[in-house]
Amino acid sequence: MSTFPTERTVLLTGAGSPRGIGRYTAGYLAERGWHVGLVDIDGDAAAATAARIADRYGVRAVGVGADVADRDAVVAAVDALEARLPQVVALVAFAGVASPVPYLDLDADEWRRVVSVNLDGTHWVTQRVARTLVSHGVGRIVGISSVSAQRGGGTFSRTPYSAAKAGIQGFVRSVARELGPHGITANVIAPGPIDTDIMGGTLSEERKAAMAADGVLTRIGTPRDVAAAAAFLISEDSGFVTGQTLNVDGGLYMH
Ligand code: NAD
Repeated sequence: MSTFPTERTVLLTGAGSPRGIGRYTAGYLAERGWHVGLVDIDGDAAAATAARIADRYGVRAVGVGADVADRDAVVAAVDALEARLPQVVALVAFAGVASPVPYLDLDADEWRRVVSVNLDGTHWVTQRVARTLVSHGVGRIVGISSVSAQRGGGTFSRTPYSAAKAGIQGFVRSVARELGPHGITANVIAPGPIDTDIMGGTLSEERKAAMAADGVLTRIGTPRDVAAAAAFLISEDSGFVTGQTLNVDGGLYMH
């Protein structure tokens, strides 16, 4: 089984939004020596984030635009990143969209939008990156689910989001089984409510308190909580952990 190269790159999708988990995690990993490749539907935001990270942490960082639901766009984006960065060793697929629409009001377009970005998007980028990881015999894949998948919503998003995020758990377990013999691990992070803007805008203190009330801890999560979990799951030393879901949710769901 191959070891990690000294110069190694992590690819992150969904690293564009200013207060998002993906952008925070990109900086967190760069600070720990990872070169970073960023993909976001907002290509300008991805490029600007990459430029800031390169400047601040002295690593190589490149950001490009792509809709993760579009297979050809994902393949082109990963091709472009690979051409400009050291060996890709890890993927963390943060790109996702929320959906608070009640089930009985759901139309076909909303269902497809939410499932295609969250689930198809995770699949397309995983498949493209996995080809590279297999060629090197080493790699780490992290999918991003949600406690919504396990508890049937309950925070902001509803049915198509819960379904897509539950799908990511089954998807990653199967990928873990197929790619394990190639030296690749695949795991899932299931965050609880995290203080970003995805749940209909910046959270008020009242909303944060209400969301925290359900958990064991007395606060909602921060991007740093999720970034730390991602750093562990893509580390060389996490190599015997695969097919797992790590809840970063303050004890909202215990399994
Ligand atoms: P965010 O909205 O700040 O970030 C999502 C990012 O994905 C943005 O940069 C957005 O531009 C990008 N994106 C959206 N659609 C895309 C597409 N089609 N192609 C490429 N990029 C696209 O949200 P966040 O809170 O940082 O969420 C990050 C991930 O964590 C998401 O998958 C989300 O579902 C998941 N999550 C978040 C929470 C939470 O409470 N914040 C809880 C559980 C899971």
